[in-house]
Amino acid sequence: MTVAQIDRFIGELDAQDAPPKHISLLGGEPTVHPDFETILLRLVEHVMHSPACSAIDVVTNGRGRRSRDFLKDYKGHPNVRFHVSPKHGHPKIEYFLPFNHAPVDEDGFSAEVALCGCRYQVFLGLGLTPFGYYHCPIAGGGIDRVLGLDLGKKNFPTADDKFESQRKSLCIYCGFLMATKEMVERSFAYCDVATREKPRISEAWRNAYEKYRLRAVSLSRY
Ligand code: SF4
Repeated sequence: MTVAQIDRFIGELDAQDAPPKHISLLGGEPTVHPDFETILLRLVEHVMHSPACSAIDVVTNGRGRRSRDFLKDYKGHPNVRFHVSPKHGHPKIEYFLPFNHAPVDEDGFSAEVALCGCRYQVFLGLGLTPFGYYHCPIAGGGIDRVLGLDLGKKNFPTADDKFESQRKSLCIYCGFLMATKEMVERSFAYCDVATREKPRISEAWRNAYEKYRLRAVSLSRY
């Protein structure tokens, strides 16, 4: 996202009666963004005056010079919390949810199931990408970015927005939709559950990636 988009986001937060209680910066790897520090400081400035939210959470892999430098520079900062992925030091991930196993490829799947999304939303909350708001970050950053449906909302969602069209169109591709509560908790904890199968990529995703390779996806910007 650009600094201008972050400024716009902060302006939208300021206008909310009930702004979010948590703001997290996720990637990819957020610290490699060329304006990462400017963005972080803009958000810190915001939370310092916000009664709802007191810190910015940054999820980083803790690798690379930039990530390590930021971890050092911001250690102990009262308004910044770095969360270093426990993957660091565990090169072989033995448990991972099958994101690319699209529920829509399952026999008898009904899109109605997607209307509620999945348990990940409880952990992740709303997602804002350069292309707008999504009901969860994975819907925007992982799915619409590839499918190119351009479903990102360009304004802060109202409290009664149920995101039905995003869920119907995007969650049907998301393997997390079928995850049980236990699976979600395990994937967050990176538990060593021995599933050594290759990740499954179902037909809908194979087709989507093939199209993605052949044509540029164009999404309108937030
Ligand atoms: S199914 Fe996937 S896209 Fe839908 S809410 Fe869950 S994680 Fe997000």
